[in-house]
Amino acid sequence: MAAIDLHSHSTASDGALAPAELVSRAHAQAVRVLALTDHDTTAGLAEAAQAAARHGIALVPGIELSAQWKGRELHVVGLGIDPEAQPLQALIAELAALRADRAERMAASLARVGYDDALEGAYAQADGGVPTRTHFARYLVERGAAEHVGAVFKRFLVRGRPGYANTEWPDLERAVAALRAAGGLAVLAHPHAYKWTGAWARRIIEAFVAAGGEGIEVACGTSTPQSIQQWSGYVRRYGLLASVGSDFHAPGQFVELGRMPALPQELPPIWPRLGIELA
Ligand code: AMP
Ligand code: MN
Ligand code: MN
Ligand code: MN
Repeated sequence: MAAIDLHSHSTASDGALAPAELVSRAHAQAVRVLALTDHDTTAGLAEAAQAAARHGIALVPGIELSAQWKGRELHVVGLGIDPEAQPLQALIAELAALRADRAERMAASLARVGYDDALEGAYAQADGGVPTRTHFARYLVERGAAEHVGAVFKRFLVRGRPGYANTEWPDLERAVAALRAAGGLAVLAHPHAYKWTGAWARRIIEAFVAAGGEGIEVACGTSTPQSIQQWSGYVRRYGLLASVGSDFHAPGQFVELGRMPALPQELPPIWPRLGIELA
């Protein structure tokens, strides 16, 4: 039942497990097909692929790209990408520069409320990568700013709070184009999480389809029966493919690997397009 999970994170972005540990945990959780989809980086894929070969797991090389459409942030999961593809690596380099610039602005604003070495702290948490907000959150927990990561987000890291800094992520169209140029399939990640109105959802899906997007993550760790019904409707209406993924970040946090609801039976799944047949 937990055989396939097409959305997960390792220490290469803001997950808590090293890529090889993530793959071991997937194996222990009966996941047989796993996509590693770190935020804006492919740095964990080589280690994950080696571990997957040892465990007999099919590793789908993936990524989760930060993007925007008309000023609204959204995430696009790429599945079956060639991590070496030049246009994708060019976009990744651009995203790293955007994140580095944002990190400096976040740190400057945190300094104004008394946390003066947040930049160094977040980089130390990021373990060689560029920090995400989660790395700032972990650093602030260490400094005693709040009890846990969730509380830090509420107090510091969301719009309107002192540690927040805006970023102009690349346009949706560019994200999808980079994934396609890398031979991958573009999937609209955790669509229920954005709280779009129906009219916005349709406009964004239409832009996504026009750009070459092919899938919607209908069943995620945080899906509800209502969200699954709503987004299944869009999959059918726009002739798209359905994807599933836990969005696992850390043991004991949100949701376990492979533990998202099942897809409605009648929806066309995306994985045959990745050459995967589930028994
Ligand atoms: P970023 O892409 O750097 O803006 O960071 C976004 C990441 O922060 C997401 O991928 C989540 O993992 C995490 N995140 C966002 N909101 C929250 C929250 N309220 N509590 C805990 N983690 C969060
Ligand atoms: Mn994350
Ligand atoms: Mn996301
Ligand atoms: Mn994710």
